[in-house]
Amino acid sequence: MRVYMDNGATTRVTEPVFAAMQPYFCEIYGNPSSVHGFGREARKAVEAARAQVAKAIGAQEREIYFTGCGTESDNWAIRGAAYANVKKGRHIITTNIEHHAVLHTCKQLEQEGFEVTYLPVDNDGLVTPEQLAAAIRPDTTLVTIMYVNNEIGTIEPIPELAAVAHEKGVLFHTDAVQAVGHVPIDVAAQGIDLLSLSGHKFHAPKGIGALYVKQGVRLQRLMQGGAQERGQRPGTENLAGIVGLGKAIELATADIPGKSAQVRAIRDHMISRILGEIPHVQLNGHPTKRVCGNINVSFYFIESESVLLHLDFKGIAASSGSACTSGSLDPSHVLLAIGVSHEHANGSVRLSLSDENTMEEADYVVDCLAEAVSRLRAMSPLYEDFLKGVETVGTDDSCHLH
Ligand code: PLP
Repeated sequence: MRVYMDNGATTRVTEPVFAAMQPYFCEIYGNPSSVHGFGREARKAVEAARAQVAKAIGAQEREIYFTGCGTESDNWAIRGAAYANVKKGRHIITTNIEHHAVLHTCKQLEQEGFEVTYLPVDNDGLVTPEQLAAAIRPDTTLVTIMYVNNEIGTIEPIPELAAVAHEKGVLFHTDAVQAVGHVPIDVAAQGIDLLSLSGHKFHAPKGIGALYVKQGVRLQRLMQGGAQERGQRPGTENLAGIVGLGKAIELATADIPGKSAQVRAIRDHMISRILGEIPHVQLNGHPTKRVCGNINVSFYFIESESVLLHLDFKGIAASSGSACTSGSLDPSHVLLAIGVSHEHANGSVRLSLSDENTMEEADYVVDCLAEAVSRLRAMSPLYEDFLKGVETVGTDDSCHLH
């Protein structure tokens, strides 16, 4: 059996999305900026997709700009807003659990003379409107807080946070890359000024994203070039990608309550089996304010990389909550921010479900997880010490032991 439970990393392009894109490679291939018939056909498709994206998030069509990915949207929103508002101030507020597309952009701005406040989160990964209100200063120009955390799935109180920013006349950006298609979003009703999204997280292809920019919000453009996207984002449009994004967002947002109830039922079944059948395990992230497809669990005394290898051997794709896989021994900044110890962060696994996963797959994955954990613990010196009653949890070097 092959089971894909790494939908937080990326998703499969579904058949209807692929079918919608297919004509835009070999048949309809004009440059949307060309004035001839070939170009006009392409332009029509781009504008139809823009309307689909706008409708899906409660925006107007002219407020949607296509980009190359979620990372580009984040960079553009944050740097664009920071540069456009330097006359007012150079202070930005974010959280310490953002994706690196946001955190590294903020770090770069700090090197350029901006000041950034990184709000801490509680043990579930939540930041509060009160915390935000206390951090806003007269020179604050932008608040950027993610909608859904990519590692632990926690859903931030975005409308309340945006309201606080607006009360103080500050722009509000949200990285909604992990939220679109899973959480109902209405930018107008929720008071969002800037919103980043990325197609490959909801069954569109990789390499296509969008930025919502509320009418009247000034952003500096980051690239110089042609007049595409109303002069704000130059570069010939990714025609087929844009068509795929439009179709995928339409499908993903057609029935969010129904789809998320289905995914949540499977997810909750897995969580209750994992917590009930595997000893010495903890669930990371908020128990209920959590995106429907996310599971993040720490297995004590073992390392996530070994669990992932076992799962891979069984045909299962999951991912590690720790950054050890990326060649660094640093545990995930998100898990540390919510108070998970280094050891437990290094034993964390993220399973991210989509609406394509089944109950049968869920049971298979939990069975394989239980087997992997018990095999690895049988070889784990930490577990042996624990059984002997030696206190090992709480030291901070388990990542270096194997
Ligand atoms: N923001 C979040 C929360 C993400 O999870 C990701 C991707 O994992 C990104 C931004 C970056 O998106 P992209 O891969 O399209 O650049």
